[in-house]
Amino acid sequence: MNINELGEFGLIDRLAKKIPTRNPSTLKGIGDDAAVVAPSEMCRLLTTDMLLEGIHFDLTYAPLKHLGYKAAMVNFSDIYAMNGFPKQMVVSLGISQRFSVEHVEELYAGLLLACERHGVDLAGGDTSASLTGLTIGVSALGECEPGRVVYRSGAKPTDLICITGSLGSAYMGLLLLEREKKVFEANPNATPQLAGYEQIIERYLKPEANRDAILTLREADVTPTAMVDISDGLASDMLQICRQSGVGAHLYLDKIPIAKQCMDMAEEMSFDAVTAALNGGEDYELLFTIPLSLHGRVKDLGPVAVIGHVVEAEKGALLIPPNGAPVRLQAQGFR
Ligand code: ADP
Ligand code: MG
Repeated sequence: MNINELGEFGLIDRLAKKIPTRNPSTLKGIGDDAAVVAPSEMCRLLTTDMLLEGIHFDLTYAPLKHLGYKAAMVNFSDIYAMNGFPKQMVVSLGISQRFSVEHVEELYAGLLLACERHGVDLAGGDTSASLTGLTIGVSALGECEPGRVVYRSGAKPTDLICITGSLGSAYMGLLLLEREKKVFEANPNATPQLAGYEQIIERYLKPEANRDAILTLREADVTPTAMVDISDGLASDMLQICRQSGVGAHLYLDKIPIAKQCMDMAEEMSFDAVTAALNGGEDYELLFTIPLSLHGRVKDLGPVAVIGHVVEAEKGALLIPPNGAPVRLQAQGFR
């Protein structure tokens, strides 16, 4: 169905019918001039992330449902990285002529699935026509007990550096999708060869914000001294903590968890898996530091690996291979 048939208000009404509110703190969701959130003793965490067609995603291979899911997840991940929990979000859409009502519904199916899994209310938004591509802006509001908020600036020398999950898969997934896109462009009859590569493709197209890690740390009564989510790559995000905390970091290369599927794909493409892990980005794992005295509480937590320790700033931010000279961490960021 053409969006013009429904109009902006018709489209919003149609979407709103499928949007529940589940948090008692959401006093008013979609429908008024602004959403209303109940007063609270908690610190409020407010974040926003924008995804632009052609810059952050390519609709040749990104399904709209996945895109909606990812647009929500990247915001939730930022809230978890402050040691809080997301509760409400709003969505701004710029939609061009080539999208139908069904397309927008697909996008919302992904947004709402992410909300359902993370207990978040989609409490409002804005909808506009766009002359260029698709734009999705999500802003999320979360909360955390005062005193438990974790900044990038709290790391101290001797702290241990920890990471959840594994790194590198999202970037190898992107490289694979780009490779198959080129094959398809050269020969539109070619079928993309994606079987067996599900793990890396999912990690790129449909990332998960690591709520479980935050719950696990709370159960173990561990509050990190500093934390960041891995959106630009381990090297760049580690350097963020170093800069803001005024410290250095020594990371041990053989401790960095790299997914097997990432290594397999890297070998197939003659690409360096360590580069994917350090500089690839979009893994949405959590990088955090804890006091050395808490080592006993994290060493047996399933999804957490200790990968190094915090040092004085003069000692630098280094990656230390098992045999060989240390190399300086470089922030390449994610292009
Ligand atoms: P206003 O002109 O006051 O900005 P809108 O017509 O844009 O009002 O929005 C009306 C209601 O619909 C508001 O509650 C707004 O939050 C909600 N809304 C608008 N666009 C979206 C969207 N894309 N997703 C969810 N809610 C939306
Ligand atoms: Mg509006």
